[in-house]
Amino acid sequence: MEKLRILGEAAKYDICASTASPRAHTPGSIGKAVSTGICHSFLPDGRCISLLKVLITNQCIHDCTYCINSTKNRKQFKHSITSFEPEELARLTIGFYLRNYIEGLFLSSGVGKSANCQAEIIHEALHVLRNKYKFDGYVHAKVLPGIGKDELLRIGELADRVSINVELPNKSRFSETCSTKDFYSDIIKVTKYLPEMRKKGEIPAGYTTQYVIGAAKETDKEILDSVFDFYTDDWDFRRQYYSTCLPLEEKSRSFPRSFFLREHRLYQIDWLRRIYKYSPDELMNVVNDEGFIPLKIDPKVTLARMNTEIFPLDINCATYDELMRVPGIGHTSAMRVLKLQQQGVKLKKNLQLKSIGIVLKRALPFLKIGSKTQLTLDNFNTTKGGV
Ligand code: SF4
Repeated sequence: MEKLRILGEAAKYDICASTASPRAHTPGSIGKAVSTGICHSFLPDGRCISLLKVLITNQCIHDCTYCINSTKNRKQFKHSITSFEPEELARLTIGFYLRNYIEGLFLSSGVGKSANCQAEIIHEALHVLRNKYKFDGYVHAKVLPGIGKDELLRIGELADRVSINVELPNKSRFSETCSTKDFYSDIIKVTKYLPEMRKKGEIPAGYTTQYVIGAAKETDKEILDSVFDFYTDDWDFRRQYYSTCLPLEEKSRSFPRSFFLREHRLYQIDWLRRIYKYSPDELMNVVNDEGFIPLKIDPKVTLARMNTEIFPLDINCATYDELMRVPGIGHTSAMRVLKLQQQGVKLKKNLQLKSIGIVLKRALPFLKIGSKTQLTLDNFNTTKGGV
């Protein structure tokens, strides 16, 4: 229990989603992974966690400034070092699964003696879990910085998803936080294995990465440059995650939600890129001259205020793409508007908009209904970066 407390606590800064490629239940095995989410719970600070999230060891040879497991910080904070044996971790996972505590495993690790030695230990734990305990449930494994291609391949064969933490957006910011790893040979080289393996079908599901926010003097622009690059076909990342760097001496206490506002804004931009299909150039308009996304205003509102070409928009003849650019309108409400347009129904009243799921407070300034503008755009500051 003490190991679990230490190694579970240490893993909570790794963010994960619980979607995966389906893994069918096979006769004689236990569990199955489904593509519709697994289980979620919330930490006191509001972060969503799912699965049994744990490190196999918190011992690490690296000196990342933001990490409690780093060589320097664990001495300074008198942090206990502990590890699970592979068999022990596999037994713990299957035990929790059978007691319905969890529906899968999210396994991360410090880099014990070396990346490849640690990868062997991770592989052994997953091998025991899959083969001895016949666990067919969801497993997400973190890829260690500096790991070899063969080691990654062996772990990829047993996991439903792998992910690597890029952590910082470029070499110079990376060097501000760590002197023992190299951005290109330990991170980018390993990251490049992922699309290669995916194309050959050697890793089973989409892969993701994670940035630590505020660990160096990186700007949002630098992060977004890196993020948008990883979403291109060359890399084909499924998702990016963002994790606010918390002060080490205060890591055990919860923080107000406002503390995570920068992280939240990055997630909003990410969402606009992936789901709403805004172009990187469009999204970069939100970033102010200092290179940051303004915290006080939703980026979609900032973008709409700048977009005087289409706004105010006549909702009764707007296209899907135009509707998706209205704050307060998402995919479902946009589809409902289009359906009503096809049926020849004219939207004339606020109540009608509300009934199809449009958030009036956000949408009305940008809409023209029955040739009337609902609120004037003149009220808004249309300069780059919004507020
Ligand atoms: S490599 Fe990972 S575990 Fe090791 S110090 Fe850096 S962030 Fe922490």
